[in-house]
Amino acid sequence: MTNSTLGVLQLAELPALPTQDTDVLVVGGGAGGFAAATTAGYHGLNVILAEQAAACGGATSRSGGWAWTPGTSLAKAEGVDEDVATFRTYLQGVLGDLYTESAAEMIDAFLTAVPHMVDFFHYKTSLEFVTGAKINDIYGHLPGAGTGNRSVGPKPINARKLSKSAREKLNNQYYPTSFLGMGIMAGQDLQNILSASQFSPKGWVYSAKRVIPHVWDMATHQRSMQLVNGTAMIGRLIQSAEDVGVDIQVNTEAQHLVVDDGVIVGAVVGSPDGGRFIRTARGVVLATGGFPADIERRRQYFRHTPTGNEHWTLAPEEADGSGADLAEAAGGYLDTEVYSAAAWCPVSLVPYPNGSEGVFPHIMDRAKPGSIGVRKDGTRFVNEANGYFDYVDGLMDATDDGEPVESWQIADSTFVRKYPLGFAKPFPVPLLPYVRNGYLIKASTLEELALKTGIDPVQLVNTVNEFNQHARRGEDPDFQRGATNFNRYGGDPKNTPNPSLAPIEKGPFYAVHVRPGSFGTFAGIAADTNAQVIDRDGAPIPGLYTAGNDMVSIMRGKYPSGGVNLGPALTFGYIAGRHLAGVTGYEVTNTGI
Ligand SMILES: Cc1cc2nc3c(=O)[nH]c(=O)nc-3n(C[C@H](O)[C@H](O)[C@H](O)COP(=O)(O)OP(=O)(O)OC[C@H]3O[C@@H](n4cnc5c(N)ncnc54)[C@H](O)[C@@H]3O)c2cc1C
Repeated sequence: MTNSTLGVLQLAELPALPTQDTDVLVVGGGAGGFAAATTAGYHGLNVILAEQAAACGGATSRSGGWAWTPGTSLAKAEGVDEDVATFRTYLQGVLGDLYTESAAEMIDAFLTAVPHMVDFFHYKTSLEFVTGAKINDIYGHLPGAGTGNRSVGPKPINARKLSKSAREKLNNQYYPTSFLGMGIMAGQDLQNILSASQFSPKGWVYSAKRVIPHVWDMATHQRSMQLVNGTAMIGRLIQSAEDVGVDIQVNTEAQHLVVDDGVIVGAVVGSPDGGRFIRTARGVVLATGGFPADIERRRQYFRHTPTGNEHWTLAPEEADGSGADLAEAAGGYLDTEVYSAAAWCPVSLVPYPNGSEGVFPHIMDRAKPGSIGVRKDGTRFVNEANGYFDYVDGLMDATDDGEPVESWQIADSTFVRKYPLGFAKPFPVPLLPYVRNGYLIKASTLEELALKTGIDPVQLVNTVNEFNQHARRGEDPDFQRGATNFNRYGGDPKNTPNPSLAPIEKGPFYAVHVRPGSFGTFAGIAADTNAQVIDRDGAPIPGLYTAGNDMVSIMRGKYPSGGVNLGPALTFGYIAGRHLAGVTGYEVTNTGI
């Protein structure tokens, strides 16, 4: 928020305030903050975690929960034993010139710690994982790209298994990515539910087993109780933190860091009970979720975002750059020398009956066969089945300065029966409400669709005809859609000859307006391999750490794989917690690592 009211106070000048002593204050209750708090607490430190919102979770609880964590014992148990050199090769290929000496140091710190981080949480805390056995790295054509088991996600958990206090501090399921408030896990859970729209009796039974208890939970608990994805991660992390004695304080906003002779010795926090000084013996960890909701910094650092308002983030409003403000005031700086300051995701806006709008991420629908993305001029601009980041990046590349950055996802009636089109759900969910509220634009012909959306009608028909001609043969000469494992896994295995490609031919036709959004930010506070905030000379600021989106992305603004936000967030939180506790070397865990 580039907020001048957030800053640093000298200890000697601090007004008289109620004071609470602790070893560590963690600011922010997302993946980065909870990883740091739980690790520090596990190693015997007293920890307070301050969360500004009424419940914990931030962007993490809205997320898919997948964390890129190559080289873990869980992967080895699945028979995938890769050398760390392979991960470096892959990242070098993706980062190119951005793989500098200092970037390599941070990446190596990550690659060294990540298997231990996963073992630590999986075996020593309530954050149990499942492996992403089939999740491919995005750029499958590059050397070293992985074809599975390089990521972990939280094991689903029923909220009844959490303590009452943990449950009370947990965010609800993010509505736009749910089905009537029910979270659906990417992978098998989603496949099984989608198979119901393809008349699979197994799919119907599976969906009924998921939906009926959910309806009961909504009636009895007013929330989704079967936690999956990011809510499972945060639910499990809150429990883990509680188990090691972390004092989790919600409705508590860090407002000023307190410094004494160059050392950060705590922070002044605001809460409904008034201001307090939380005095720290070891340090403060900034993990406030970056600045995707900070309009002024968006204007400064995001491409094609001239006023800061041409962007729709999926992160909560609290991710307004307060960590960056605090770090800058304390002598740290924002590292913006990255490929992209934002972790792009294409989004559409969902009108709700009460007049508000939800932001929906187009994560998996773009890759299904029988749909394309076009710009206003009616042309395609990208391989739609590549990563979400590449979709927006390609859209930005294709857009001239001063032009709005926008596209439309186009599909036919075969597609919308089988697959979701953005927020619109497939059969048997009726499409009419989405058409009525203007979310879906429907037309009998492509020309009519073009007129209704403002797309060039002649070019749209040409684009679709040409796409169809090749798609029938399973080819996409323009953008090579369907060429990589990543593309094909995102498609439909039953669709032949290419799971990623099908013609768009059977009216009525549909369109959704797709615009630039983000999961969060990649530019962030400069830090060293211990997660300590550094000044412009590279010297650590004593007592100040950072993790999660507050920290500049170790991927330098590139998106090599799904999970490159949460993998480093958990890992550098873990590194910060260990450094604060003075722990060196890795203990031998259950798996012998
Ligand atoms: C829909 C969606 C899907 C995603 N899927 C994935 C995925 O599968 N894999 C992946 O790697 N990434 C994914 N991401 C991105 C990922 O969720 C984020 O990058 C990550 O959660 C950031 O974690 P964090 O701990 O830095 O911040 P957050 O989880 O946002 O937590 C920060 C917390 O700090 C609090 N806070 C802010 N300011 C203050 C203050 N001054 N005082 C106290 N508290 C404060 C906020 O309220 C918030 O709760 C997804 C994001 C979204 C939105």
